Amino acid sequence: MKKKYDYVIVGGGLFGGVFAWHATRRGKTCLVLEKRGQLGGNLYCEEIEGIPVHRFGAHIFHTSDQKVWDFVNNLVEFNRFTNSPMANYHGEMYNMPFNMNTFNRLWGIRTPAEAEAMIEKQRGAVDGEPANLEEQAIRLVGTDLYQKLVKGYTEKQWGRDCRDLPAFIIRRLPVRFTYDNNYFNDKYQGIPVGGYNGLIKVLFEGCDFRFETDFNENREAYRALGDKVLYTGTLDSLYDYRFGRLEYRSLRFEDEVLDEENYQGVAVVNYTDRETPFTRIIEHKHFDFGKQPKTVITREYPAEWKEGDEPYYPVNDEKNQSLYQKYQELAEAEEGMLFGGRLAEYRYYDMDKVIASAFRLVEKEWQK
Ligand SMILES: Cc1cc2nc3c(=O)[nH]c(=O)nc-3n(C[C@H](O)[C@H](O)[C@H](O)COP(=O)(O)OP(=O)(O)OC[C@H]3O[C@@H](n4cnc5c(N)ncnc54)[C@H](O)[C@@H]3O)c2cc1C
Repeated sequence: MKKKYDYVIVGGGLFGGVFAWHATRRGKTCLVLEKRGQLGGNLYCEEIEGIPVHRFGAHIFHTSDQKVWDFVNNLVEFNRFTNSPMANYHGEMYNMPFNMNTFNRLWGIRTPAEAEAMIEKQRGAVDGEPANLEEQAIRLVGTDLYQKLVKGYTEKQWGRDCRDLPAFIIRRLPVRFTYDNNYFNDKYQGIPVGGYNGLIKVLFEGCDFRFETDFNENREAYRALGDKVLYTGTLDSLYDYRFGRLEYRSLRFEDEVLDEENYQGVAVVNYTDRETPFTRIIEHKHFDFGKQPKTVITREYPAEWKEGDEPYYPVNDEKNQSLYQKYQELAEAEEGMLFGGRLAEYRYYDMDKVIASAFRLVEKEWQK
């Protein structure tokens, strides 16, 4: 007997959406089960004071993948947002990523040669193999950039002193000897006009939905609704944590609505001193070039992750990776189940990489 749906899609995020779009185009029927009260996963935007607020962290789309860029641009219009964050160190404002504007503000120098010479001189403060993150960072960018723009921010993120953190955490700190404040090196970047919800809506068009529905609370019954299941949740929860829990790093967000039009003049300001408890302030209207009379800001606090918190960033250390592998072996043995996305793959994935990964699954699924 044919089941009611061709696919039961667990998770209404970007991965599930790209798969659903391709499935419905092929005349397949999809039921989407979503734990939360709305679609979009971490891309979801909540409208406050007419401003699309990036509810689960600031999201800037950037890619050099032509196929991915064409795909999303054929679905919705993107604006020309360019990420040019600022850093605030005890009230001193610096351009990010480290570039000639930063060096000019820091040292009053004007030419790339002067900047290179200054960094080279300061790198000499550490010789031999860097023993910890502090030494590694000084080796990469010198003492001034480290003290003002790396140290406090990194210590807040990890909740530990840079001297107590291993050197390998920072492999590269990009330094640019041009007056260019564009954070990303990718060929394309932007944000869908009005936020991400429009993109999500188009991706899931034609599907049926059940919200506030956790697949893992009634697996057999939900599996019985479709021929196949695409699962985009965490693997440890799928197997009732039988080998233990995968760990994550978390974030806490605190919103404030302000009765002024323009609070900080830019979407992202990093607070790089150790004393300010938050790491960033996001002013959402700048993602969308908003002109609303009020503004919404979000302070981001690094947070220890504990059971029940949102799993934001996977901790891809040896312990967690080998735990993940055990779960992955169980998943590989499943019949009629497909897997994908940042949670099921236990990887930090930018949006363009998630879309490319969904394309690969689509190809596998329909080229058989
Ligand atoms: C703080 C932060 C900032 C980011 N910023 C950027 C950025 O600037 N640029 C960029 O390119 N990328 C960014 N990313 C990455 C981006 O969020 C991901 O690439 C994208 O969201 C992954 O989509 P996904 O569908 O795999 O996962 P998700 O968006 O997490 O979607 C998975 C969905 O599945 C649901 N779900 C899980 N388990 C179950 C279950 N058992 N039953 C039912 N539903 C379930 C979840 O509720 C969720 O809605 C950022 C990520 C974070 C954490």
